[in-house]
Amino acid sequence: MSEENAGLDRYLRRLPKVDLHCHLDGAVRTRTLLELARRQNIPLPADNERDLNRFVQVTAACRSLAEFLDAFNHIVPVLRSPEALERVAYELCEDCRADGIHYVEARFAPMLCVKRGFSAEEALSAALRGLEKGKRDFGVQSGLIVCLLRNHSPEENRGAFNALCRLFGRGAVGMDLAGDEKQFSTKLFADYFEEAKSKSIPTTCHAGEIEGAENLKTALELGVDRIGHGIHILQDESCVNAALKAGIPLEIGLTSNAYSKAVPSLARHPLLPLFKKGLTVTLNTDDRGVLGIDLTHEYRRALELGIPVEGLQKISINGVRSLFAPPALKSQLERQFTQEMEKLYASP
Ligand SMILES: [Zn+2]
Repeated sequence: MSEENAGLDRYLRRLPKVDLHCHLDGAVRTRTLLELARRQNIPLPADNERDLNRFVQVTAACRSLAEFLDAFNHIVPVLRSPEALERVAYELCEDCRADGIHYVEARFAPMLCVKRGFSAEEALSAALRGLEKGKRDFGVQSGLIVCLLRNHSPEENRGAFNALCRLFGRGAVGMDLAGDEKQFSTKLFADYFEEAKSKSIPTTCHAGEIEGAENLKTALELGVDRIGHGIHILQDESCVNAALKAGIPLEIGLTSNAYSKAVPSLARHPLLPLFKKGLTVTLNTDDRGVLGIDLTHEYRRALELGIPVEGLQKISINGVRSLFAPPALKSQLERQFTQEMEKLYASP
């Protein structure tokens, strides 16, 4: 790496950042996965880190979203215990610290982790304990977003939603809808968004990650607070206008979009046009473990896509303003970020 590149990487690593869209099950270290599986006698397709990475990490060679999601089939069974969830949440904070992330909103679908004697609420509570310890040891603040899944039954989603309601304000900060948006439209889940709204629970929704703006349109009509990805929003002018008017942030994951084939290649990612349009763009890891990336890496890719350094600072501040956190905390973080960015500029 050239001197200039190394300096730039150092700058981007130290640049204060937040991660709004980070799947806990997509953030597990491979080494930890091996240990947790061994301890619970859960079979994995390989018994060492290098070989296991072929199954639990995807690369640019990944052909489809289905192949991408296959990695999770090896990870999720290992997370069905309080110890496992607590540990991966704790380690996520450690990884965030090394990545210049001051605040992370982790998310997962608790209904994927339930088993006999282990409820959705207990799964969420375990992750919250890990995040709390991580905050204490690494100084990384956090919130937990509860994912409902498009392919889950109404009973399962009700279970996740009820658990969210019980823990809202006690670490749980919002609701998300994830899963196959092609097969299951956002409309089918309108009730949950309306109910969340009536309880003042902030919401985000994976939508417009794949081609087409229909799911995005519904999400915006339902009054979501943020959109997961939303990178195909430029296909529909009315959605763009609605998002601009309401200032709805897009939680973008560049490498995620490229590897899942949401865009044909990273070089053709619409980040710059979205940014230029004035949309509230944020950068996030999505699945730091499965993708083998960190947020510093994503900021670097954004730079390569034509976003200037000042733009990256703006994107970081966009993230702070978009957090599902109390306004006073967000203002304080914004002040802190602005000061740190000025200092970093003065001593690159
Ligand atoms: Zn996601």
